[in-house]
Amino acid sequence: MKYTSFLIKYGEIGVKGKNRYKFEDALMKQIRIALKPLSCDFRVSRELGRIYVDADDDCYDDEDVIDALCRVFGIVAVCPVVRIESKDFENLKKAVIEYFDRAYPDKAVSFKVDTKRADKSYEKTSEQLNALLGEAILETFCETRVDVHKPDVLIKVEIRNHINIYSLSLPGPGGMPVGTNGKAMLLLSGGIDSPVAGYMIAKRGVKIEAVYFHAPPYTSERAKIKVIELARTMARYTGVINLNIINFTDIQLYIYEKCPHDELTIIMRRYMMKIAQQIAKTNGDLALITGESVGQVASQTVHSLAVTDNVCEMPVFRPLIGFDKQEIITVAQKIGTFETSIEPYEDCCTIFVAKHPVTKPQLEKILESEKKLSEKIDDLIKSAVDTKERILCSAK
Ligand code: ATP
Ligand code: MG
Repeated sequence: MKYTSFLIKYGEIGVKGKNRYKFEDALMKQIRIALKPLSCDFRVSRELGRIYVDADDDCYDDEDVIDALCRVFGIVAVCPVVRIESKDFENLKKAVIEYFDRAYPDKAVSFKVDTKRADKSYEKTSEQLNALLGEAILETFCETRVDVHKPDVLIKVEIRNHINIYSLSLPGPGGMPVGTNGKAMLLLSGGIDSPVAGYMIAKRGVKIEAVYFHAPPYTSERAKIKVIELARTMARYTGVINLNIINFTDIQLYIYEKCPHDELTIIMRRYMMKIAQQIAKTNGDLALITGESVGQVASQTVHSLAVTDNVCEMPVFRPLIGFDKQEIITVAQKIGTFETSIEPYEDCCTIFVAKHPVTKPQLEKILESEKKLSEKIDDLIKSAVDTKERILCSAK
């Protein structure tokens, strides 16, 4: 059955008090952006704590609309509805029977009618409507039966300024609409974790941009393409991602030449954070995001994280900090980044990684080692930032 209206249910926005309309506006904006690729005319409107998407023409597929809406942060459920404007009871009865007939070709099902009356002035009570509409369905389709406890089909009828009839409620991602909570810079590698970390923070309404540290010829062009692919997959949820690609080779070689090899990773990570922070500040981002999780590798022990954090002046969001790898993989599979993440292209950290990296680095010792870089490091950072490549990654 083809639907022309979709009722959007949202969660947390509803408790935002006086600011609620701002969050609703942001959600409506994100819904319009999500539907744009379908190249069809959709009207997005709001009415009494509800948002509706109505199609003006017939050039879309329901599944595509639902798929796009179910990726918009802030949406808790999408309900394909039949909307009727006339509230006359006979008309309602006819519409409910027609809905049941079209939505459920197999009539050998149990059902329950569940009416909610936001318009209390309506001529019949919810109980009366449940009984009368249920009776009408039973009389028309003799194979059906009523089951008020565990029905196969729940027919919801909402009496508002108009009437909604629906039974499906498809889960959205929840969270807050992108753009309602500032902007942050994601350190995006080609691995499994960082796309998930970006997704989780974007889900809280944060607009994401990203930085990738590339080390040609030690990392291939294909590794860079993989990161672009990941950003494009994430963009299906987050909207367009501005991806900054930094050539990190000279900095890595310089650290490799000057510093103890067991400290390479931690020192490299500190410079990644520094550079990411520098670009973030210029672009008005208020925080950094990484895919780190306590204890996952040597650079993610509590000691290492503390030493890394020491170079950061802005907050670093690490949403995966308490996650096990399998939990991260489950989210990666759900959002569609996993298959790309496991493609076997080297990322820059694995090339320069020591056999036995320090797991309990001491800040004083690391600062001492970094002094050996003082001659050239500022120039190298400047040149890496000045020559950064910028790619706008839109949803694929
Ligand atoms: P991931 O699966 O996200 O690559 P990982 O398990 O490989 O993580 P690390 O390589 O230690 O772990 O990286 C930790 C975090 O540092 C990553 O989640 C990412 O946020 C950031 N990071 C690592 N390498 C890069 C890179 N080349 N460019 C940008 N960010 C990076
Ligand atoms: Mg990695």
